[in-house]
Amino acid sequence: MSIAVFLDRDGTLNEDPGYIGDPSKVVLFDDVPPALAILQNKFHFKLIVVSNQAGISRGIITEEEVISVNSRINDLLLPYHVQIDKFFYCPSHPEFSSPEDCLCRKPSPKMVLDAAWEFSIDLSKSYLIGDSKTDIECAMNAGVKSILVKTGYGNDHLSLLFQEKKIPNFVAENFREAVDFLIHDFNGDI
Ligand SMILES: [Mg+2]
Repeated sequence: MSIAVFLDRDGTLNEDPGYIGDPSKVVLFDDVPPALAILQNKFHFKLIVVSNQAGISRGIITEEEVISVNSRINDLLLPYHVQIDKFFYCPSHPEFSSPEDCLCRKPSPKMVLDAAWEFSIDLSKSYLIGDSKTDIECAMNAGVKSILVKTGYGNDHLSLLFQEKKIPNFVAENFREAVDFLIHDFNGDI
């Protein structure tokens, strides 16, 4: 079985100006590519993006644009010798889609569970890094450890999570700090 780091996309890997459709507008946070490279090349984690992309059902962006933004991310990662193994995204939104179509939408664990099936992932040893309350809830629903990064919405959603007593395994200032925690935790030296 493999072990995965599930990754939210917008606000976690890249700056989040809201509904990115233009691949040339993708800006990865500086610390993301080298940290991903360590996770993949040194620790052999599967790197799986799980992303809500309700802008598709809202008619703001197209599915093709989401796919081209995803492939732009892997293009930007190429010089660092790391690639996202697969991008999962949920195009749906409750106001615009049927309840069945919304089953993938975080905080549902469906995208994580689908990936676990496809890649034979041991969820009990896996992690999810995200910047939103729904990411942490998704991790809890899927039974993976959760790390909230304070980039993106992270700083705002932190107090909401603690109010609801949904406490992530770790709260990180940035992606690098999230990965440092993850590696120490994985190695059992925390
Ligand atoms: Mg996000």
